[in-house]
Amino acid sequence: MGSVTNDRILVTGGAGFLGSHLCGRLIASGADVLCVDNFFTGSKRNVAPLLGAPNFELMRHDVTFPLYVEVDRIYNLACPASPVHYQYDPVQTTKTSVHGAINMLGLAKRVKARILQASTSEVYGDPEIHPQKEDYWGRVNPIGIRSCYDEGKRCAETLFFDYHRQNALDIKVVRIFNTYGPRMHPNDGRVVSNFIVQALRGEDITIFGDGQQTRSFCYVDDLIDGLVRMMESPAGVTGPINVGNPSEFTMLELAEQVLRLTGSSSKLVFHPLPADDPRQRQPDITLAQSVLDWRPRVALEDGLKETIAYFKDLFAGRVDA
Ligand code: NAD
Ligand code: UDP
Ligand code: UDP
Repeated sequence: MGSVTNDRILVTGGAGFLGSHLCGRLIASGADVLCVDNFFTGSKRNVAPLLGAPNFELMRHDVTFPLYVEVDRIYNLACPASPVHYQYDPVQTTKTSVHGAINMLGLAKRVKARILQASTSEVYGDPEIHPQKEDYWGRVNPIGIRSCYDEGKRCAETLFFDYHRQNALDIKVVRIFNTYGPRMHPNDGRVVSNFIVQALRGEDITIFGDGQQTRSFCYVDDLIDGLVRMMESPAGVTGPINVGNPSEFTMLELAEQVLRLTGSSSKLVFHPLPADDPRQRQPDITLAQSVLDWRPRVALEDGLKETIAYFKDLFAGRVDA
């Protein structure tokens, strides 16, 4: 992974799925980490193992309000990421992306911090270009049920680039593709956690649509490595840059893998496809390979085994829910 300095690092959304893995990685590297979270989808339990570390601090705070702290680096991850959660209060979702970005950019401007935005493959919408490259502008419905998330993230990217042009801010924008792993929220409705939870409980596996739509799943350790490499890349490398695993699967293939690895006899059941659900998604990671010397290492089968083990422990009470 890229080298980490001993700087003071702010991680917004640090108690969430990706944020807690990032905080763990940064703490292990010796950095001084301030984790800020409003605990909407994240939890203290996700960062409980870090609470005793002298270089870790946890603050309950909503990024839609100003934040005055002194830091050198900011990872801006605060935002619910699963459709179930971001559609629960869509106005708050847009505010989190847009007001949150303004506040964190204002903070970065005042303290001259480097700032990284956790953007998303959703900026490409339901894409006509396959695989998706960074210069593709996307096909996003501005008024649909996914728009609060997609357009909020697109506006955040706009703000990052305008602060960069207007105020010479040192920015980094990463477009994260579907990522999975331990500490995914068991009820957040994302496909990997849904299928594993259903398989382990012997419940029906819910396939939306005909199951022929595709996604490309990145294991969390690979993703975090990509984020840190981007943060530590030379000034002037702004992105946007895709980080994800290009191995593409249909949802039916994913369901079959989960059933095989869990040994479950759950049945597949078919539900209507949600509105604006993208048909296919696969990152072109040529840029990340050349600029960051990054590529994913963990195959889906290996990552699924780790994730299944986590959910088994969770349900056995060996990890707090
Ligand atoms: P998550 O829901 O587990 O984490 C988001 C965190 O942000 C949670 O801890 C939540 O409590 C916190 N949060 C939400 N609103 C907040 C607010 N207003 N103020 C402070 N904290 C707030 O999701 P995740 O998968 O860890 O996603 C982290 C980031 O990565 C998000 O910005 C998401 O959009 C982005 N991302 C994730 C994926 C993925 O597949 N996991 C894909 C693309 C982009
Ligand atoms: N801000 C913040 N922390 C800081 C500095 C600024 O949260 O340390 C917020 C503040 O709420 C402000 C926003 O960031 O509204 C944008 O700041 P900027 O300096 O770009 O704009 P202005 O203060 O002129 O609105
Ligand atoms: N999906 C599914 N069954 C589920 C949950 C999701 O078939 O129980 C599908 C969903 O329709 C989408 C894909 O899996 O086509 C990925 O969904 P997810 O919410 O994980 O991520 P996103 O759509 O944001 O990429």
